[in-house]
Amino acid sequence: MIQTDSVFQELGFEYKTDNLYYKTIDTILQAAVYLNIPRRLELILAQPKNEIIVHFPVKMDNGQFKLFKGYRIQHNNVLGPYKGGMRFDNTVHLDHVKALAAIMTIKTALVQLPFGGAKGGVQINPKSLSRDELMRMTRRFTSALGNNIHPDFDIPAPDVGTNAQIMAWMADTYVNLDTQRRATSHSVVTGKPLAFGGSQGRDKATGQGLVYVLEEILPEKNIAFGQCRFSLVGFGNVGSWTGRLLCERGATLLAVGDHSGFIKNDQGIDAIKLTRYVEEKGGVKGFAEAESISEDEFYQTKVDLFIPAALEQMINLKKAQQLDCRILAEAANIPVTPEAEEFLLKKGVEILPAVLCNAGGVTVSYFEWKQNRQTETWDLDVVDHKLKKCMIQATHRVKQAAKKYKCNLQLAAYCAALKHIEEVYEHRGIFP
Ligand code: NAD
Repeated sequence: MIQTDSVFQELGFEYKTDNLYYKTIDTILQAAVYLNIPRRLELILAQPKNEIIVHFPVKMDNGQFKLFKGYRIQHNNVLGPYKGGMRFDNTVHLDHVKALAAIMTIKTALVQLPFGGAKGGVQINPKSLSRDELMRMTRRFTSALGNNIHPDFDIPAPDVGTNAQIMAWMADTYVNLDTQRRATSHSVVTGKPLAFGGSQGRDKATGQGLVYVLEEILPEKNIAFGQCRFSLVGFGNVGSWTGRLLCERGATLLAVGDHSGFIKNDQGIDAIKLTRYVEEKGGVKGFAEAESISEDEFYQTKVDLFIPAALEQMINLKKAQQLDCRILAEAANIPVTPEAEEFLLKKGVEILPAVLCNAGGVTVSYFEWKQNRQTETWDLDVVDHKLKKCMIQATHRVKQAAKKYKCNLQLAAYCAALKHIEEVYEHRGIFP
């Protein structure tokens, strides 16, 4: 903490413990202490390289104009072009996006992808817009970003509140504005629909990556997939795919929660049927093959594996005290508050860090970018095979760092990532 304070002091801003950005940088700086990395690198990583904020008007269906605020934060690009999701959500604000951009730098470094870290978004509930309004808003946001996004410089992807359709509108807008008329300019965005340059396996990639990590971790804890009972909060892209893929391997999904409510079935919830239900109804509430339970009952459900796959900082100390699990796998980014994390670690719960668990998404995004640029299309088994290799290697890096630095897996993941970033900075030096 002392180290963190002094970095913030030198940069001239006040340390605020309740701010997600400061908390994220705090974790990076704690890992930096283990590695004893040069002070200049701590300072560089404590601030994003670029903070882009745009305001743009959009004509609504009723003929009125509405002004939107959009962000793109480019945290670090020492390893390669900036890479990270675009979020459309009411909670989007500057420090939040800065935190998520910094996490992307760590994540791409941990998997050793040739990408840096970025994040962006618009503060809006996309469900409050008609399809046409959403399309116009997405296109206008893309044009407002101009050359700040580019296939060789910064490559957005889907995140909370955005999907393949929104990525297609972003890519199409960019292609139309590309005066150089490059055949590969749609590679400016990943997570596109399959028919428009998307990759096989991108939709399930984040859940699939987590399952590959669990294949490495569960046997060490003497938990077989067939005996594994798990619960999930968040049943969107990441949660539903994780649920389906774990059930495919014989695990039992006992309880699920999302913004609409919480459900449970001691015999197991069919994740495929629940996915179809959520696609139709918008949430898990009312699913006939499970009983409705309270939020407290949900968190108290005894499971081997608990997976937060919703939003940031959802697992606070109260919820952590209710949890009855052996492993918590962070599918969402920074889902656990520092107080809750401390409590769970003391209790002996193994926390698998988000920068490892959900790195499958950006990894298959990298494969999509590569396929676009080489005008190739890879089969699903090729994508899965390459993803598995990357996830196993990243898991081993985290385990080795935990042994070497005698620290928990979260700090170990940050240490492994920072080590790689430090090495590249050593080779490149600081310009001029
Ligand atoms: P999504 O929008 O598809 O799903 C979000 C889920 O969170 C929904 O089920 C929603 O109901 C639930 N939720 C929202 N508010 C909630 C609340 N108050 N209580 C309970 N549940 C709530 O988003 P996603 O793409 O699945 O992303 C989920 C998390 O995973 C985010 O942290 C995101 O940054 C991270 N992530 C996503 C990807 C990806 O490929 N989509 C990759 C890496 C990380």
